[in-house]
Amino acid sequence: MAKKPLRVKDKTRVAKILKILKATYPEVKTQLRHANPFQLLVATILSAQCTDKQVNGVTNELFKKLRTPYDFASASNETIEKLIRPTGYFRNKAKNIKNCSKSLLEKHDGQVPQTLDELIKLPGVGRKTANVVLGSVFNIPGIVVDTHVARISKRLGLTESNNPVKIEYDLMEIIPRKNWNVFSLQLIYFGRAICKARKPLCPTCPLYDLCDYPDKIFKPG
Ligand code: SF4
Repeated sequence: MAKKPLRVKDKTRVAKILKILKATYPEVKTQLRHANPFQLLVATILSAQCTDKQVNGVTNELFKKLRTPYDFASASNETIEKLIRPTGYFRNKAKNIKNCSKSLLEKHDGQVPQTLDELIKLPGVGRKTANVVLGSVFNIPGIVVDTHVARISKRLGLTESNNPVKIEYDLMEIIPRKNWNVFSLQLIYFGRAICKARKPLCPTCPLYDLCDYPDKIFKPG
């Protein structure tokens, strides 16, 4: 049997998905606690392979002890490692945060830059982290492709790729620019609550009728 074509570029379907997401999650914002762009940058680096709740538990104490790029650049790796240990991969994260802080001091006067190109040149900062910071603190449109966004975009047939950069470009093509920030956050909320990695709650899903996921769990009756 011929494979059913994905309706990746069906604008009407995309508009319906956006409308339902907006109705389901009218208010969304990053769950990572922060008081300024630098804190969000650090928190996002810490969030790799770790839940936002765990990161918030760590940053609560961390930001009392180390506040500025200067503090992090001056602290020893061991000091940072000890403070961030519960987030996992703590040696690598400590090294990245320290080097990122040094780079901010050397090249950006201690300020977090406001462009993707500058942000992704910082140690430990990839497109995902850069787009989180740009969207959440500078209100600059960007699509954050984390594990939820990647999984759900594919299940919904909005992309055919598993590559985060390709997914980001596919989504930028079909999602209106003004929706980029909110759309990423809505998919993150949706992925945590309904379209979960292992057992998606398909029978209660508001996007059920628009979803082409071949393994979706069918509604009884
Ligand atoms: S129907 Fe299931 S797989 Fe499809 S979007 Fe909803 S929860 Fe995810």
